[in-house]
Amino acid sequence: MPMNRRGGKSSASFPRSKKSSQRKPKAQLQPKNFVHRDVKPPELSTHTSAYSYQDLDLHPNLQRNISAKGYTDPTPIQEQAIPPILKGEDLLGIAQTGSGKTAAFLIPLINKLANNRDEQVLILAPTRELAEQINEEFRALGKKLGLFSALCVGGQSMRKQIEILEKGSRMVIGTPGRIMDLTDKGKLDLSHMSTIVLDEVDRMLDMGFIEDIRRLIREFPEERHSLFFSATLDPKIQNLMREFLRQSYQEVKLQASPSSEHIYQDVVLYSHPEEKKRKLKELLEDYQDDGKVLVFANTKKGVDFLERTFQDMNFAAIGIHGDKEQPERKRTLKQFKSGEVNILIATDVAARGLDISNVSLVVNYDAPENYDDYIHRIGRTGRAGAIGQARTFVEE
Ligand code: AMP
Repeated sequence: MPMNRRGGKSSASFPRSKKSSQRKPKAQLQPKNFVHRDVKPPELSTHTSAYSYQDLDLHPNLQRNISAKGYTDPTPIQEQAIPPILKGEDLLGIAQTGSGKTAAFLIPLINKLANNRDEQVLILAPTRELAEQINEEFRALGKKLGLFSALCVGGQSMRKQIEILEKGSRMVIGTPGRIMDLTDKGKLDLSHMSTIVLDEVDRMLDMGFIEDIRRLIREFPEERHSLFFSATLDPKIQNLMREFLRQSYQEVKLQASPSSEHIYQDVVLYSHPEEKKRKLKELLEDYQDDGKVLVFANTKKGVDFLERTFQDMNFAAIGIHGDKEQPERKRTLKQFKSGEVNILIATDVAARGLDISNVSLVVNYDAPENYDDYIHRIGRTGRAGAIGQARTFVEE
């Protein structure tokens, strides 16, 4: 049984940390937050969509693209979100990456673009990687419909992006910084856009994009179709949401933390750095034949250190963080997705919004600062109906 593996053997009672209250004044999480041993197998089969894609009045080529992607039934978020978006209603979607939310907004928006040549869409995402993933999904779902997109993210040539925009792309996907640069240069006119999607708003706010987003929204016409996606909805996000959506909007909500119930969660106790490293090595040895492992460290330096240490020990490990150049980040993600390397070491920022599936184990080598981040991190495991595994290192 996976739940009896090494990481699950640690003691249920937690020795009080002698020094941690002085050293980490911000950490509010208790070790018990990282423990959930009574896992039940996920009940994936309980969801049956009330309708199939074929029941929807979608462009035939879009129907074909959906089938070609291998999507047979709408996921819960798609089931709830596609019909109101098709009707042109504003939408608040509370859902995480992994729920199929990208297709939940892309399917109806592609349909709008295909049927109406005046339609123009802007999708804002917090990170380049997420924007790229949305773009890839758009390219697959938007085939043979005469549509093309402009991917406008930092770290890539702005000149090429401008060329694509000048060709008249009606789908613009980007990160707030680059979209602002392009509007400031007069290369992107938001006042003619008919639809705007804000994806992963909670992450955009965490990353300090709130004023940029407000400024961009002001450039949009008052009369517009607005979609707002976030995994959480704290008061700051609610304020922005109220400014952004029309008064009557549809709300689509997935269970608060859909994935954590079927994730076996435990702590790994250590008392000094060498022991911490040794215990991580044992965990990685245990899991490396079982699939992919995602290790979180809180700093870029921490990621670099773990990458070096474990590569030196001949693990197929690779690190990703915000200081790495875009092509390298892209390559890393590809290698991890394809299974060429099976251990990815990441900071929260780098991992945000990434569609990394089939992770058998999430390791919090450094404990996250808050519970939202914790849930977000461990949500990478236990997808598609599998029991996931999560371990968090806690100092004795
Ligand atoms: P997302 O939440 O948009 O990041 O999607 C997570 C993953 O689910 C992606 O790999 C999608 O390709 C996949 N996906 C989206 N919709 C469906 C569907 N209806 N059936 C199966 N997989 C899907």
